[in-house]
Amino acid sequence: MTQPTCPTAVASRCAQCVLRRHPPLHGLHSTHKDTHTQAKLKNVHSVLAYEYAWMHGCTRKLGMKICGFLQKNNSLEERGRLAGQKNLLSCDNSDRDSRYRRTETDFSNLFARDLLPAKNGEEPTIQFLLEVVEILTNYIKKTFDRSTKVLDFHHPHQLLEGMEGFNLELSDQPESLEQILVDCRDTLKYGIRTGHPRFFNQLSSGLDIIGLAGEWLTSTANTNMFTYEIAPVFVLMEQLTLKKMREMIGWPGGEGDGLFSPGGAISNMYSVMMARYKYFPEVKTKGMSAAPRLVLFTSEHVRHLTPMRCSTSHLGRTSSSHYSIKKAGAALGFGTDNVILLSTDERGRVIPADLEAKIIAAKQKGYVPLFVNATAGSTVYGAFDPINEIADICEKYNLWLHVDGAWGGGLLMSRKHRHKLNGVERANSVTWNPHKMMGVPLQCSAILVREKGILAGCNSMCAGYLFQPDKQYDVTYDTGDKAIQCGRHVDIFKFWLMWKAKGTIGFEQHIDKCLDLSQYLYNKIKNREGFQMVFDGVPQHTNVCFWYIPPSLRGMPDSNEWREKLHRVAPKIKAMMMESGTTMVGYQPQGNKVNFFRMVVSNAAATQSDIDFLIDEIERMGQDL
Ligand SMILES: *Cc1c(COP(=O)(O)O)cnc(C)c1O
Repeated sequence: MTQPTCPTAVASRCAQCVLRRHPPLHGLHSTHKDTHTQAKLKNVHSVLAYEYAWMHGCTRKLGMKICGFLQKNNSLEERGRLAGQKNLLSCDNSDRDSRYRRTETDFSNLFARDLLPAKNGEEPTIQFLLEVVEILTNYIKKTFDRSTKVLDFHHPHQLLEGMEGFNLELSDQPESLEQILVDCRDTLKYGIRTGHPRFFNQLSSGLDIIGLAGEWLTSTANTNMFTYEIAPVFVLMEQLTLKKMREMIGWPGGEGDGLFSPGGAISNMYSVMMARYKYFPEVKTKGMSAAPRLVLFTSEHVRHLTPMRCSTSHLGRTSSSHYSIKKAGAALGFGTDNVILLSTDERGRVIPADLEAKIIAAKQKGYVPLFVNATAGSTVYGAFDPINEIADICEKYNLWLHVDGAWGGGLLMSRKHRHKLNGVERANSVTWNPHKMMGVPLQCSAILVREKGILAGCNSMCAGYLFQPDKQYDVTYDTGDKAIQCGRHVDIFKFWLMWKAKGTIGFEQHIDKCLDLSQYLYNKIKNREGFQMVFDGVPQHTNVCFWYIPPSLRGMPDSNEWREKLHRVAPKIKAMMMESGTTMVGYQPQGNKVNFFRMVVSNAAATQSDIDFLIDEIERMGQDL
């Protein structure tokens, strides 16, 4: 079979040409078509398939498939029929054309019981799903449309009381599919468009189309990660992807182990469990009473102070690491008193000397230091702890070093920014959330560990009904027993698919672009009247933390009363943003700092114009406060 590629192929691609192998073309499609013809493809089938694919926006692979199909059904009639088709969904199977076309369907008399596996359920099923796809694609289109809002805010009581035609109450009797479709539409309508170019509220944002397709496929496959037996392809994808991530961390040959877990907080918990198993394996069977008093170290976490309690006595003490380390301490029976908080510099980075002093102090009290968490990209400030210096101390005192790269791990993909994680290869374990900086749909978080066998040693229970040792395949691929869960959601596919679709290069470009945007924001506001940075210097990650000071509070001396007023500014502006629905950005107090905005960029759709818009909105909404 001749591939439908252009003989003048070059690497560059035309925005309009899905075949992607043509010289760059900036003209209209007619010019484009001429070039295709000039390509003088010899095989009539490939020309046909080629033109077909071009006209219908099919992928190159699809074009090839059609070509093969034509060679098998080499009649003019078939060719004519194919060329006349409009419906994309029918590309790979012309017989099914009619079934995949949306037709006027009355859903008011149809119910879930009429869908597959019901007898004659195929047609209503297809029609219903096409309707759902219509709802979803409309939502997707609007998500990227800046003339639409980020949200349509309602108070909880309003949603609970029920909106026009949309009621959250569950009923005993089935609702019609018409109502179900309304429910689908309205659920999206009253939700938040986290993929909107002006949504900056969370570390995870954006709507990646390939990732979305991956989620759809994942739900369709509806399987479970615990064994190769029932998830052969996904299990291998997970192994392969984790290895690639370990290579990026810098562990020799990508050796080690890992798992995708339900989020960074759980990944961090895994790290504490593995550390404990490494040094005190008997805790697995005997419990914590078999171990001495163990202590964990992490940087000061977010402390919420009321403005009344804000005083200058804490100046210079800011908070940094994620509260999930403390939570792991509580959940795993260490107790939060045994999670020792480390001092940070003004930018939120751990001071290594403080770590060493606190290790020594703990030992003097007879406690046993076990684990140190270094944060790579802290949640609020975007701070990167000095991993190499912390690793030196961990080696000296024989402690487990974990790097929490939930937010900053993605920077390993960027040649320009990965130096911020220098020393990460010395960690015993690493948390890395592709669902944050890399824009993979929620949720997708990996725990990676350098030492093989420890994850299984720590967690395996060898349940005979799942993990039979006498299966016909290599049972080391049954990864489920390494998890603390039983069933495990397939989080890998969307990520794997995105990696395929973008290449490592694509992730790198995304990350570099987000960091450029945050630098743009920083440059724009650092000397702007009415704006004050929370800390000096270019942010290490995309976090830009700042106060907006309304005209009424400018040029006044710093006092408790002034701070109390400033403390109320960000929440007021945020409330206005929510009500008007134009944009969303987070705020919080931290340490002795009153409420400030935390801008973060991880949304691939955001551009400089959206940053400009955000600043304009803050100024517009805050000018009279
Ligand atoms: C977000 C975050 C976490 C928690 O990750 P989830 O996926 O939300 O559980 C942990 N650590 C850091 C530094 C984070 O930013």
